[in-house]
Amino acid sequence: MRAAPSQEEVRRHNLGVLLRHVHVLGPTSRAELTTLLGLNRSTIGALTADLTAAGLVTEATPRDTGRAGRPSLVVRPESERVYVLAFSVAADHITAARVGLGGVVLDRREEAVERGSYTPDDAVRLITDFVTDMRAAVPAGARCVGAAAAVNGLVRRDDGRIRLGHNVGWGDEPFGAALTAALEEHPNVVVGNDANLSALAEHTRGAAVGSDHVIYLRGDVGVGAGVIAAGRLLTGFDGYAGEVGHMMVNPDGRPCACGSRGCWETEIGEPALLRAAGRGGRGREAVLALVDAAGRGDGAAQAALRQVGDWLGVGVANLVNVFNPEAVLFGGSLREVYLAAAAQVRSRLNRNGLASGREHLRLRTPQLGDDAPLVGAAELAFSGLLEDPIEVAMALELAAAP
Ligand SMILES: [Zn+2]
Repeated sequence: MRAAPSQEEVRRHNLGVLLRHVHVLGPTSRAELTTLLGLNRSTIGALTADLTAAGLVTEATPRDTGRAGRPSLVVRPESERVYVLAFSVAADHITAARVGLGGVVLDRREEAVERGSYTPDDAVRLITDFVTDMRAAVPAGARCVGAAAAVNGLVRRDDGRIRLGHNVGWGDEPFGAALTAALEEHPNVVVGNDANLSALAEHTRGAAVGSDHVIYLRGDVGVGAGVIAAGRLLTGFDGYAGEVGHMMVNPDGRPCACGSRGCWETEIGEPALLRAAGRGGRGREAVLALVDAAGRGDGAAQAALRQVGDWLGVGVANLVNVFNPEAVLFGGSLREVYLAAAAQVRSRLNRNGLASGREHLRLRTPQLGDDAPLVGAAELAFSGLLEDPIEVAMALELAAAP
């Protein structure tokens, strides 16, 4: 039997839960927090006082509530003072942002890159340039509480090593170590997979808020997924879970960049779609042009979308049978494919997905668009602070900052 948690453990847990609510919801009244946490008013008052003293939130009386009686104090995250650095390394662009507590984007830089033409060192150099450039606008006394990068590739959880990043043109690369070294004055630099972090973002701030069993599919050249199970991101032992693009669906299919054959991404990735329509080009623009052509009656484009939509349904049926999600989100180029071929996806899902698993299933498009990996990276970077706010605030001397 496990011993009951001590009063101090309960307090630390509650501080984290309260700060997380304010971080996700923005300014929130003490009365709302009392309801959300199921604690009494004096306990909420004590917790908000601790977070205020730690420099993480402020409290103020709302201007005019229009109601009689003493209004409930509003708790606001210290967005300008407490921030993280979030980065996204995608196939065709690299983005950096300074994101304040509460999820407020305070500053942002982005540069388009040529797919497959930049090395991990190039990416680290660009990111450090962005960080240096953004530093000028950081107010005195503001503190960075973490940094995280979303990368389109297989990411080892322990050290952010990229094991395979064929969409960005990388092999096995010590990206996490290089980024940590380059950002030496920033604490806790972590790296995550872009589909995983997109799932986290949509679950926290997008189309999957309130859904605790979610699969976020992200497609471009390759296909990946982030799986939220019971409200938590499924990482696997080393961090490689969710590589649904390499789920084998066609034993007689084409060779895949991973070395196998007939992987799902060889049937539903951008190259597969464009090839099926007999078209050239690459990237989102080429996919959009194909969808547009299908809408205008181009028979080859329509047939390609039906074919790829059918393969999309095959994999979704497998995932539904394995994970029993309540929502499947289609991100990246798969958003366009799903919207244009929803009938094929549904039809295949109805044939191959277990009826019980389909009962409460919703197929949806994400809300955060191409920003999802960046938003997810920010959430990952904030996770240490939200886990134990006072410990992190003390370590960074937040309260002592001017
Ligand atoms: Zn593969």
